[in-house]
Amino acid sequence: MNTIKYDTKLLGIFGHPIKHSFSPLIHNKALDLLNLDYIYLPFDIGSVNLHDAIKGVIALGVRGFNVTIPHKETIMEYLHDFSDEATMIGAVNTVVNDMGRLIGYNTDVFGINESLVKHKEKFIGEQITVIGSGGAARAVIFCLIRNFRPSQIVIVNRTEQRANNLKRYFKQKMRFENFKAYELFPPEITEVLKDSALIVNATSVGMHPDVDDSPINIRQAFNKKQVVYDLIYNPIKSKLLLMAESEGATVINGLDTLVNQAAKSFKLWTGKEMPINEIKNLLIEELNKTKKAVD
Ligand code: NAP
Repeated sequence: MNTIKYDTKLLGIFGHPIKHSFSPLIHNKALDLLNLDYIYLPFDIGSVNLHDAIKGVIALGVRGFNVTIPHKETIMEYLHDFSDEATMIGAVNTVVNDMGRLIGYNTDVFGINESLVKHKEKFIGEQITVIGSGGAARAVIFCLIRNFRPSQIVIVNRTEQRANNLKRYFKQKMRFENFKAYELFPPEITEVLKDSALIVNATSVGMHPDVDDSPINIRQAFNKKQVVYDLIYNPIKSKLLLMAESEGATVINGLDTLVNQAAKSFKLWTGKEMPINEIKNLLIEELNKTKKAVD
């Protein structure tokens, strides 16, 4: 780590809980590799302290910070300005302190797009199913509508009300009409999943340590023509992806998404390109350690 000096710049992440976040590892390693005079710290901040913490950012001259669960939406009321994406999605994961003006961005969209674009020929213009209705699902749906012209988006969520809210939100914000929403999981869903060229898991189901869980347990849902994308990166290959892969589907995990959203935030704060390959290798090493600890 660089030596801390009087003018070392501060970056960080606000969330609760925060102990499982890989962001401090990613950003401190990248800062170190590029020899940049910043430090990135995790801040465990409950909702009652969020506003005071943001005042602290301005008072202390913090250069910027990431935002994670549960503050991605609520933080918006304390910021001065937003990128187009953050406004459209209604969620912020990165804040830049531009001389006392706090500007909110959503770099998850960039990470999601980088993961999907390589496989777009397989699902562009087709029916797509998104499981989940939280912040990640919002970023996924925005990216799909903006970049991949789906014929229909099917939202499946444990709480049907949230899926319906999301459907209404994007109908109004992006004028996209072709939605269906379901609660997890009605009998007819197998056919819906089979007919989806892309299936996205934007829930935390299957995440470490619950690696034996999967949001879909129906093998017939998958086929060779499909792409199945899980935003989970720990484990590197979730049960959902293992199952889809064994039925011949193309699978994408959340690791590239994680690294690319971090790289975009890093560029916003420092103006520099993150050394993506080194960071990805470091994460794979770390994730394999977690896996060994579980085994
Ligand atoms: P969130 O806002 O808390 O939303 C969580 C979603 O998961 C909701 O739809 C929730 O359903 C559903 N869910 C949670 N537990 C469930 C269960 N036991 N059974 C069924 N559904 C369940 O979280 P988020 O920010 O959207 O994140 C979702 C996932 O994406 C997390 O695993 C996160 O790590 C991952 N993610 C990855 C990246 C990346 O860079 N790879 C970026 C962002 C997020 P209800 O609506 O019913 O509560």
